[in-house]
Amino acid sequence: MEVLRFFIHYGLHLIFPGLIAWLFFRENWRKVWLILVFTMLIDLDHLLAIPIFDPHRCSINFHPLHTYLAGIAYISLLFLNRTRVLAIGLLFHLLTDAIDCLWL
Ligand SMILES: [Zn+2]
Repeated sequence: MEVLRFFIHYGLHLIFPGLIAWLFFRENWRKVWLILVFTMLIDLDHLLAIPIFDPHRCSINFHPLHTYLAGIAYISLLFLNRTRVLAIGLLFHLLTDAIDCLWL
């Protein structure tokens, strides 16, 4: 079960963004994929937590960049052309982490 969870989580964090990029941003899907994967950097907020990694903890509303408030900020980025892809990545990241919470 843990292994399945691991593959679903990192599949959604790494592989699925590639699919989104390829389907919706065909002309520059590599660059878009890179930006989407880059949003994993918000996991740096885990460094503020003790312990840094806990497989039985739900990230959503625990880590500062994984709160509903952060989500609202990410949604607002959707409205700017320059940050739209980044916003998609950030919101998809939150969704992926939220799915992870369903296993707990
Ligand atoms: Zn995360």
